[in-house]
Formats: sequence, C-alpha cells, structure tokens
Amino acid sequence: MSHAEREHALLSASGAHRWLVCTPSVRLEEQFPDTTSEYAKEGTLAHEIAELKLRKYFIEPMSQRSFSAKLNKFKKRELFQDEMLKHTDTYLEYLQSITLSFSSKPYVAVEKRVDYSAYAPEGFGTCDCIIIHGEDLYVTDFKYGKGVPVSAENNPQMKLYALGAYLEYSLLYPIKRVHLAIVQPRLDSISEWSLSIDDLLAWGEEIKPIAQKAFNGEGEFVPGEHCKFCRAKAQCRARAEQYTALEDFKQMKPPLISNDEVGAILEKALHIEAWVKDLKEYALAECLKGNEIPGWKAVEGRSARSFTDIDKAFEHLKQNGIDEAMLYERVPLTVSKLEKQLGKKEFRSLVEEAGFVEKSPGKPTLAPISDKRQAITAAPDTASDFQ
Ligand code: SF4
Repeated sequence: MSHAEREHALLSASGAHRWLVCTPSVRLEEQFPDTTSEYAKEGTLAHEIAELKLRKYFIEPMSQRSFSAKLNKFKKRELFQDEMLKHTDTYLEYLQSITLSFSSKPYVAVEKRVDYSAYAPEGFGTCDCIIIHGEDLYVTDFKYGKGVPVSAENNPQMKLYALGAYLEYSLLYPIKRVHLAIVQPRLDSISEWSLSIDDLLAWGEEIKPIAQKAFNGEGEFVPGEHCKFCRAKAQCRARAEQYTALEDFKQMKPPLISNDEVGAILEKALHIEAWVKDLKEYALAECLKGNEIPGWKAVEGRSARSFTDIDKAFEHLKQNGIDEAMLYERVPLTVSKLEKQLGKKEFRSLVEEAGFVEKSPGKPTLAPISDKRQAITAAPDTASDFQ
C-alpha cells in the first residue's frame, strides 16, 4: 500500500486490477471524493514504523537512542497499537531473510517513488521496499490490512511497481529476474512470485493500449469483483444492471427453475448483498444531506446504554452492600483463546494430548466451486436432517 500514489496518480498501481478490466472507471470515479478510512490511516502509521525499522537496518544505521526517540513519537499517535511493532518486525525479518542469503551487500531502497508512466499515462507509485542484488530485483509490498490475503502471482499492482523500478535502475544494474512479494503479517500471509524481465516487459507492452483507454475514459464498463473498491460502486449503472438483469429469469419457462438456473442465480446473488449494502450507505448519506430517495428516510437507530465510569459504578455498588459475585461473570476461555494464552506447545501437551479437545465436523455450508475446501455429500437420511 502506498499513500502518495493514492493521492496523485489517476492510473494508480493499487487500482490497476480495476482499470485494466473496467477502463472507464477511473474517469467516472473522479467525480467522487477520495475518502480515507480509519483503516487506511492505521496502515499509513504501520508503514511509517516499518520504514523507520527498515531504514535503521538497511540504509542509515542510527543509535538505539535516536531510534527509540523516533519510535516513541509513533507510539504517541492516536491510532498506534502494540501489535504494529510485532507485525512490522515480521516484515523486516522477511526482508532480512532475503538479504542474508546474498554473498555481498545488496542495494536497498525504502518507500521509493517509481514512475511507470512509460506504460500507463502519468502513472507512478511508491514501492515499500526494493532490493537489487546481481541480476535479481525484489519488489516487496507491505499490506497492514486485515482483509483478505492478496496473491503476488500476476498481480498488476506489483508488476507496475516492478516496471517502474526496472526503468529506474536498469541502467545501473543488469536486472534479469523479478521477484514480487506481498507481506500481510496480520493474516499470516506472505505471497511470492517470480518472472523474467522479458515477461514483465512483454506484459507492460500488452497493457499500454488498455492504460491509454483508461486514461482517456474510454471502453466498456465491466462490473465484477473489482467494483468493491470503486468510488462509483453505489451509483454505477453497469453494476446495477448486472443485478437488475435477474428479472430475465421471469421470462424463463417452465414454472419451476432448474438446478442450472439455481446455480446461475446464486452466482449473481453472491455479489448482490455487497451491492445492496453500498446502496444503503449511499441512500443514508443522501437522506442525511436532505436529498430525497423516494420511499426511504433516515431515522435514529437503536441507542445502547453504557456505564459512564464502570470502575466508579462498581465501587459504588460494593459500598452499598452489593456482593462482588453479582457484578462479574466467570466465563471460560474458548479453545483458540486458551491456545493463544498458553502457547502452542503447552496447549498441546496439557490440553490436546490429555484428550480434552474434540473436533466436530462443521455444519454443511454452500460455497462457490472455486472454494478450496473439498466438496461433500450427505447420506439420504442425514440430508433430510440438514433440511
Ligand atoms: S462500479 Fe464496477 S463497473 Fe462501475 S465503474 Fe466501478 S469498476 Fe466499473
């Protein structure tokens, strides 16, 4: 993730998976404000901490004192969480594992702005870390989010960064291979993928005309998974049409729909929930602005009661003769929380090996065919139980 790029480049690397498929989306998005979420701000802080650690280790050795002073400033920020220290360490350790395998000192750049405008008009972005050693270029992205694991394989964001890095350094280094990696410590995920420089440059040539179309706001609107982060997602007509086209099924005969049709409808329906949520958010914002959405209005939601000061309240209760046992519940930890608390080793010997854990099969659930889990069927009598 890179903050500078989000603010400036129209053809951003992080949005490439969208504008390479739905080319007119970037121009359509221009009319919507670019709001930064709390999550993104949290990510920015984690990046700043990571940058400090990487600079200290790879680029400008600094005394422990000056490092601590700088780190303490980050710790005072409102969005700081202790776990940022652990996760930025994981990222640093991953990069160290790469550089420690080299026989000589590599070139390392941190939070490096790269320019890929030779491939996508006015395109640039910030690489979290670039390492060059001999003929190998390593481009690594640190994603602090807790969303979903992102694969480095054929990842257009990473390939655009790599193109920018190659253009920047190809005169100085004989780069032949490119290694892309996405590190997501909060998801325990590190995804790596390599390709030759020839394949990367060939991809760059392939996307040139598509990027030009996107820059000009030309081409077809193509809805899909990538709509999720599009700023036009609530009002986009192409996205709405793909769902309202469900009406087509009404034209179908006979009166009962077939299993083929159930599959086709469910496939569309999977995305409808997310779309309806976007529409609701948009409609609520409009109502609050005083704009009319026929048939809908904004109202005050249910309010929740909470203690103004729980410590003082409980103290007051105790002083008035209320027994402490009435104020607290003793709740046993869940299996996974206890495992976290004890550590894996101790948990295994004291709990698992002593036979205190059992695993019951999960309840059958419907999943798209692309899901990694194996398909199951049930015996006829259990099948009716499920119903
Ligand atoms: S919502 Fe989807 S289809 Fe519409 S412009 Fe955005 S990416 Fe394209």
